[in-house]
Amino acid sequence: MDNKLEIINEIDKIFEEAQKSLNSAKDLNELDISFRFFTGKKGRLTEIMHNIRLYSTEEKKIVGAKSNEVKNTIEFIYNARKNEFSGAEQKKFLNRYRVDLTIPGNYIERHHKHPITAVLEEASDFFSSMGFEIVEGPEIETTYYNFDALNIPADHPARDVWDTFYLLNGLVPRTHTSSVQVRTMEKKSPPFRVIAPGRCYRYEAVDATHLFMFNQMEGLFVDKNVRLTDLKGILEETVKNLLGARKTRFRPAFYPFVEPGLDLDIECVFCGGRGCGICKNTGWIEVIPCGMVHPNVFKYAGIDPQEYRGFAFGMGFDRIVMLKYSINDLRLLYHGNLDILNQF
Ligand SMILES: [Zn+2]
Repeated sequence: MDNKLEIINEIDKIFEEAQKSLNSAKDLNELDISFRFFTGKKGRLTEIMHNIRLYSTEEKKIVGAKSNEVKNTIEFIYNARKNEFSGAEQKKFLNRYRVDLTIPGNYIERHHKHPITAVLEEASDFFSSMGFEIVEGPEIETTYYNFDALNIPADHPARDVWDTFYLLNGLVPRTHTSSVQVRTMEKKSPPFRVIAPGRCYRYEAVDATHLFMFNQMEGLFVDKNVRLTDLKGILEETVKNLLGARKTRFRPAFYPFVEPGLDLDIECVFCGGRGCGICKNTGWIEVIPCGMVHPNVFKYAGIDPQEYRGFAFGMGFDRIVMLKYSINDLRLLYHGNLDILNQF
């Protein structure tokens, strides 16, 4: 029995020490160390519990119960203090990363389409509503589709290197979207009406109204009874739709692939028609070359000019955007300067 008493005293002593040690721990680390010291694998209490097998049955009962009780209490103290520390840690964390719901949020910038893309889509929608189909053609063309099939003979000045970029392999970056006209007529049998938006390239001195790369929207309408008045009506309606009420005029012009050929001019928005540097003092800006499809072009494409007639136009698209938004220099549209582009 002495032996038993001694052990019970020992357990009480361990408990007191453990209690003191756990309660004086300054942080989670110290707490863990002291907890392990008493109840870990080689802890003092563990050792006693381990040796329990050496005692008599009666002793086992008493010592076992006592040491279990102490172990549970130590665990209880440990868990309570642990929660205390974690709570403090959490508070520290929350204080550091506190969410202040009153701070104004980050401004998410709204994006929008480039003005050329936006107006191009607007125009495509408008033509679709009049029954036009949208078609595309290659930007790098053969001279056949870019010139010959459009009735531009080999000695025509437009084929001069001053206007056209020639590639080493003999192909050309198309100088107009009119090349798509020929490709369309080869593929489709009339009647049909199509538009072909796309980029074109010319060897051009760059200024406020001329670029070496620009956007054009080709239009082609082929049917049995198409007349010049249809062309005028549709183009005037197009200008009204894209630019609102603007003064327009048609004047005769020469293009080898149309007969008769016309130019549709729009009154200069920058000077109100009085004449300025941008309109080269004419008061007008040339926007849509157009005309009735030349019989030779029909012949090249295998369409009988006796049976069918048609009109075609090549809208200078960048100029439409320029007039729509009163941009006085086409180059601004391609500079990628957000101060300018954000205004649209
Ligand atoms: Zn002007």
